[in-house]
Amino acid sequence: MSENIFVVVEQRQGYIQKVGMELLGEAKKLAADLGQKVVAVLMGSGVEDKAFMLFHYGADQVVLVDNLMLKLYVTEPYAKALTAVIREYDPQIVLFGATSIGRDLAPRVAARIHTGLTADCTGLAIDPETKLLQMTRPAFGGNLMATIVCSEHRPQMATVRPGVMKMAAYDSSKTGEIITLDVQFAPEDMNVEILEIAQDDKKGVDISEAKVLVSGGRGVGGPEGYDPLRELAEVLGGEVASSRVGVNNGWIESNRLVGLTGKTVHPQLYIACGISGAIQHLAGMEESDFILAINRDAEAPIMDLADLGVVGDVKVLVPKLAEAIKQYKSKKLVE
Ligand code: FAD
Repeated sequence: MSENIFVVVEQRQGYIQKVGMELLGEAKKLAADLGQKVVAVLMGSGVEDKAFMLFHYGADQVVLVDNLMLKLYVTEPYAKALTAVIREYDPQIVLFGATSIGRDLAPRVAARIHTGLTADCTGLAIDPETKLLQMTRPAFGGNLMATIVCSEHRPQMATVRPGVMKMAAYDSSKTGEIITLDVQFAPEDMNVEILEIAQDDKKGVDISEAKVLVSGGRGVGGPEGYDPLRELAEVLGGEVASSRVGVNNGWIESNRLVGLTGKTVHPQLYIACGISGAIQHLAGMEESDFILAINRDAEAPIMDLADLGVVGDVKVLVPKLAEAIKQYKSKKLVE
């Protein structure tokens, strides 16, 4: 009988990717509802020493497939290894990060084992009655949320974008069992030749890591409209983000985009400046700890979600807020 929740933990050059830890945290909650175990699947070459940290983030067991064929991510050997893991251990649920690797691997494996896959989930839960995994994701251009179940086939499989789930608290005392699965590869399994690895050396910001985000939308009025937001972000030790309008108009770089087609963020403070609060934007920031909305329209949808809504012109209020915080800080230093 299918059992346990498997998390495919991604490593790149031996570095465990954060989304894997986030999924272990989520799997822990689901496993508690099912009374089952959390099993991390770690594939690579020479990565056994990385398995231990997965216990500290919630794994009860680690299934390790360690082979030279898995040194770099290549679709065919990884699909073969993961298919073998699933056939051997018959998990009830398998979770992947919706990264470029997860998006490549998950559908291929789902097809091989004849099961379904729900991509880009924003919420996972166990139905208390049927015990099925409820996989929620935006549908129809993000205008509604669909909850999907996979009732006929096993495992139930989902991908989740980085930043959506929260990591469990790190527990250095937690240990577990490492199970090694020996997968037999043939030379023809390596069906592509890697000629060169081009590293992305852009030191771009990662807005999903920021504790404070000052985010601008159409209301900032143009590229120069982000300057006061940058100043406010700087005094608060944060970063600037944007709605899709700012990115589409070329006012700001695309790596600042928050929302369904951008990053999912949960900073301690999210300041939405001249952003109406379209559902596709909210999907990326509604989990922020505190939301301050500045908008000249008191009826804008963002006001319903905001912890604090201020009605007024961003061009006037944002510089004033930055100045007030600067003064407050310098007064504190004098005192
Ligand atoms: P608007 O909706 O035009 O709102 C501008 C707001 O600024 C208004 O509320 C207005 O009152 C206020 N305002 C204007 N001037 C001022 C001023 N001087 N001072 C104060 N307030 C002012 N959007 C995203 O953000 N992220 C996504 O990932 C995303 N993905 C999408 C995916 C799909 C498939 C689709 C169909 C759409 C997606 N969108 C996304 C677009 C989304 O639907 C909205 O169009 C977009 O979020 C609106 O951006 P906005 O709030 O900046 O602009």
